[in-house]
Amino acid sequence: MRRLMGRLVGVPGSASFRGFRRIVSAANEHRQWADDLDDAELSRAAREALSSPGRGAVVEPTAELLAVLRTAARRTLGQEPFDEQLLACCALAAGNAVEMDTGEGKTLAGALAAAAFVVAGRRVHVLSVNDYLAERDAEWMQPLFELLDVSVGWVGQHTPPSTRAEWYRLDVVYAPVSEVGYDVLRDRFATSDADRVRPVLDVAIVDEADAVMTDEAMSPLVLAGTSTETPEDFALADALVQELDSGVHYAIDADQATVPLTDAGLDLLENRLGGVNLYDTAHTGTLTRLNLALHAHVLVRRDVHYLVIDDTIKLVNTARGRVAHQQRWPDGLHAAVEAKERLTVSSPGVVLDTLTVQDLLRRYTTLAGMSGTVVAVAEELAEFYSLRAGRVERRLPNQRVDVAQRIFLDDQARMDAVMAEIRERHREGQPVLVGTQSVAQSEQFAAAFAEAGIEAQVLNARNDAHEATVIAEAGEYGAVTISTQMSGRGTDIRLGGLDEHDHRRVAASGGLAVLQIGRYPSGRLDAQLRGRSGRQGDPGTTLTFVATTDELVQAHATNHQLEKIRRRGSQLDQAALGSIVDQAQRIAEGIRRDRHRDTWDFNRAISRQRDTVLAERDETMNGDQATVEVSRRIPEEIDRLAEASSPSVVAGLARDVALWCFDEQWCDHLANLTEIRDGIHLQALAGVNPRDEFHRIALREFHGFFTAAYDHAADIIRDVTAAQLGQGIAALGLRRPSATWTYMTSDNPLGSPMDRAARAAGKWMRTRVYRIE
Ligand code: ADP
Repeated sequence: MRRLMGRLVGVPGSASFRGFRRIVSAANEHRQWADDLDDAELSRAAREALSSPGRGAVVEPTAELLAVLRTAARRTLGQEPFDEQLLACCALAAGNAVEMDTGEGKTLAGALAAAAFVVAGRRVHVLSVNDYLAERDAEWMQPLFELLDVSVGWVGQHTPPSTRAEWYRLDVVYAPVSEVGYDVLRDRFATSDADRVRPVLDVAIVDEADAVMTDEAMSPLVLAGTSTETPEDFALADALVQELDSGVHYAIDADQATVPLTDAGLDLLENRLGGVNLYDTAHTGTLTRLNLALHAHVLVRRDVHYLVIDDTIKLVNTARGRVAHQQRWPDGLHAAVEAKERLTVSSPGVVLDTLTVQDLLRRYTTLAGMSGTVVAVAEELAEFYSLRAGRVERRLPNQRVDVAQRIFLDDQARMDAVMAEIRERHREGQPVLVGTQSVAQSEQFAAAFAEAGIEAQVLNARNDAHEATVIAEAGEYGAVTISTQMSGRGTDIRLGGLDEHDHRRVAASGGLAVLQIGRYPSGRLDAQLRGRSGRQGDPGTTLTFVATTDELVQAHATNHQLEKIRRRGSQLDQAALGSIVDQAQRIAEGIRRDRHRDTWDFNRAISRQRDTVLAERDETMNGDQATVEVSRRIPEEIDRLAEASSPSVVAGLARDVALWCFDEQWCDHLANLTEIRDGIHLQALAGVNPRDEFHRIALREFHGFFTAAYDHAADIIRDVTAAQLGQGIAALGLRRPSATWTYMTSDNPLGSPMDRAARAAGKWMRTRVYRIE
């Protein structure tokens, strides 16, 4: 009975798309009609086919529209959309998150939905995870859009501002989610409307929706101002900590998150520095640098947490084993790692403003998403985005065999088992994809394979386009490819190579075998790796090799379980070990979910205040608010200046100075709130709910924001001389940041001590970029 109820009710937040089947079947009846239309007629028919533009924010495609889209796709792309893709198109157009297995053709389904939105008069962003995919998909789908008179473009990291402004006026824009976010941030700081590129946040169709909307949702996109200060020299700190010994001078705590100095360590460092007292306030900076350097040396591992590419540090998103593009660690930790690697230490700049991915997405009028694994996060999507998730079944039955996981007590036993497996499969010519947890682990397996005479292609998460080519060939007869979880994501693995010339032979060898090394921090990530195999009804096998020494198990199994493994591991059967591993993964998933909720909760207050400031800022920029406010404060000075020039010159001055004050004050306020937020978890110890406390303090700190900003503006204008008028605010000695740049950072108020330590330590490094000279 409970199972029946479960089926009826379904996963919380999940939706059934069964209702759309009727429209899709009806579309088949219009096939001949659509095929008989010429290109121009098709475009017209698409627009006429929508009897009404849809209810509210969503679009309900009609059978005629689907028939037109199908014909247009076949005519332009040579691919006739399957019924499943039309179904997905309807579900997307209705504003849902759609789960479709890898290889089922989400790109085309997403483009069809984008076209449906456009003919209903909407503007669409198709948000991808990187430049490579944005460009690839936009170019691939362009002929389809052109036939339908839908304009399309794509924006990437290197798109110049003027082009961005132009592209954002198009009907459909393919772009990485971060680029749109950076544009929103930069637009906020524009001092005139003409400088804005204006992305239109109407409809977003989010690719890899689960990753973007949950895993990465709280990553802040950061707009930073370059400060002229050079960062402190980390080389000395770096050299000093190299003299320290583990267990003597420092201790690594149990969860591998902090590494406090011992008294012996402090003594040694103080001696080396000429007998200073590091706890003296005069040496706070030095102590911070030393702690950061130690952290960088002991806990931050090359090829696991970061790579060094082209003399820069590239962060690895450890959940996905991918390079996180344009990411930095907060503040000083980044510099410390640069010093450790003997690279030029870069300035972190000063945070002008931040925007979380979630905040950005919630600004769109309509959201839709697609991914191979979205139903598992249905509840979160419903909670944070009011988005319902549902599944579109595979077109052809799944023929993949997923073998039950095997669990080993140490790395060597696992390695032996993997070697035995790969030898056997490689001998038969079966292509094998080995999925690892880190770049370092990939290299370790590649070396072991090479020793056994098996050549493997290793994807090391360095270049998206290059990886896409390698991964596309992973289905060749006899190919062995080693990759971290998300390498080459979005790219299809076809059996028998890119053009499937050898499909039959490879299928006969068993199709693609996926060997997964260790479990990922979520079942979704496991499923995505397995999904590489058995595409579109192909045969395939997946095997999973877990070791109890894996980080997931070590970090999330209970002490009691770890102890049991240590003492009686060899007597435990696979079922017992399996339940420990499964539980560790569930715990990791729970931690991520909680963290998402927590971070969101903290951010809400900041986000609301930012909206208030931006609304006032816009009014100031485009209206006479500033003149009114400043005149109220210093009427005589305003009259004096107006007489010396003209009222419009003075209005311009008031406006520019007020904008400067707003931006400077927001920058300070944000830094202040971030510091308060970072410290607030300590309040929990005092029995206060940290969230309530933070909201209370945030409100208090924000009180009087505008009054203070206009007071400040009036103070500055009071001293302006007639000679300084009309020369811009630089003539008054007011500096805006000399340049802005953008990056993403990991952020987590209560969670990772690494983030917290880094941010706390970085406070002293913050220098002000808004300056009065
Ligand atoms: P997903 O993103 O869902 O994993 P893709 O959009 O990359 O899948 O498509 C997978 C493959 O299927 C691509 O090679 C694409 O060319 C092919 N494909 C998609 N739709 C069709 C179709 N209707 N007919 C034939 N091939 C298709």
